[in-house]
Parts: sequence; C-alpha cells; structure tokens
Amino acid sequence: MIVTRFAPSPNGPLHLGHAYAAIVAHDRARESEGRFLLRIEDIDGARSRGEFAEAALEDLRWLGLDWDGEAIRQSSRIAAHAGALERLKHEGLVYPCRCTRAEIAAAATQMGPDGPVYPGTCRGQHIATDRPVAWRLDMAEALRRSGPLTWQDEIAGMVRAAPEIFGDVVLGRKDAPGSYHLAVTLDDAADGITVVTRGMDLFASTHVHRLLQALLGLPVPVWHHHGLLLEPNGHKLAKRRGSPSLAQRRLAGEDGAALARQLRAGVFPGDLTLGAGGYGGTGTIASSSLSGQP
Ligand code: GLU
Repeated sequence: MIVTRFAPSPNGPLHLGHAYAAIVAHDRARESEGRFLLRIEDIDGARSRGEFAEAALEDLRWLGLDWDGEAIRQSSRIAAHAGALERLKHEGLVYPCRCTRAEIAAAATQMGPDGPVYPGTCRGQHIATDRPVAWRLDMAEALRRSGPLTWQDEIAGMVRAAPEIFGDVVLGRKDAPGSYHLAVTLDDAADGITVVTRGMDLFASTHVHRLLQALLGLPVPVWHHHGLLLEPNGHKLAKRRGSPSLAQRRLAGEDGAALARQLRAGVFPGDLTLGAGGYGGTGTIASSSLSGQP
C-alpha cells in the first residue's frame, strides 16, 4: 500500500508552496487508496512554535485535506533519534565537532547544497564531549562501507546517490539528538512511508537519506520531488514574501477547497509559476544518462 506524508516544520505560517506540497502528498496516496500521514517536524526547539503547528492543522482541514490517524509529533521520536546516533557512534561513523559556523565558513573551500562544506577540522581529533557537541558523519568511511547507491524518483527516474557533495554532514545537533537528515530518515521508516513526496529544494538531501538508510538497515522508499511554486523572479516562494499565508487567506474567509482545486489544476494565484520537478542537483544522473542514452 502507498503511504505518503506531509511533514511541515512549524517555524512559521504555511504558504501556498506548503499547500501545493500537501496536496501532492495527499493526492498521491488517495489516488491509489493509500494512507496519507501528517507529521509535524517540531524538533528545532529554538524555532518551533505550538501555534504554528495548530495553524498548520487548521490550514490543511480548510484546504479539504484529511490525514489518517493522529498528527505525528516528531518531538515524540527523540529517543529513537538518540538511539540511532548512539549506534553510529559505536560503529565509528560519526565524530564530535565543536567548530562554530564562522570557523567553518572561514576554513571551507567548497560549497555544498546546505552551504560551506565542512573542511574536516575535528575529524580524527580528541574532542571533549562533556559540553554539547555536534556529531558529524565521516562521509568517506560511510561511503566505503555502503558502496555505490542509487535511488528512485517517480519523476527523475534512477538517480546515483552523491552524498559526498555534502561533506561530513551533521547528524546530531548540539540541541537535538537528530539533525533534519537523521530525524526525517528515521521517521519516514518508522511511519512506513513508501513514497516520500516533497519539493525540489530537498532533492539533494535525498542523497544523504539514501546513505543513512544503507548504514542503518532501513527500508528504502521511492521519492517524488515535485516542482516548487516560484515567484516571478524565479525564486522559491518565501514564507514572508509574496502572497499571504494560508492562515491569512483562511481568516479572510477565502474558500480553501476552491483554492485546492485551482492548485490541482495548475492555476496559481498572482504571478506564481510552477518550477520543474524531479531533476536537478549536482552529482545526480537520471536513468537515461546511466544507460548512456541522451
Ligand atoms: N520538515 C521539512 C520542511 O518543512 C520537510 C521534510 C521533508 O519533506 O523531508 O522543510
């Protein structure tokens, strides 16, 4: 059975891009009588707010989207995230790091999908862990153990996993046992997600998630990276720019079901457009390129 999810981070109000992402996930499940889950990714203690989570539930109901079961709180999974991080420590796959953002920016020589690539300063050093530290994946060692990996995107086809473009990514944060990459990978497995739908802005992250699945022996779903709603300047719709939030539209009395129908039909408010889905990101090769065809 197809199981999908919408997994917003309650760091701010949802906007039209979230509505589109939620509709894609919902419809992908419902068109094949699958399950659609809602997971509130609320582990960022500094930025998550209860009122944004509550508003997100209201927004989805207003759009006419129904999810199966209770909304899942990612914060209820913290013990599982910590357990997986412990396992990676025992297996010698992560190391502690105390570098600050500024130190990394000053020492980095490469840019990756999430910003400057960590130059490996703390790798192989004796870093005290009596104070909070970040835990970084030893990417070279992880790749040595996993061997070459591929993943399947419903739009892009077969993709060669290229997690090395991230360098030694953070898997355990100073303030939370699981970074986005570790938490989302573990939770998608725990929730039995079979098709991970999300926007193209997270396409590259999937390289890391596929590697973590291999290292932790987790099931491998397929992915569906849809296009993003873009502003006229080609930029991703930002939370605080452009059109009003879903909550503002809802509170102004707009018809949510009608808005959802428009988005499904590819009619976007204002001068928003839909970007391409499924292909992009450094180091990715679609199936046609793998087989040597144009
Ligand atoms: N919580 C993430 C976000 O709001 C999305 C997680 C995912 O779909 O992988 O950006």
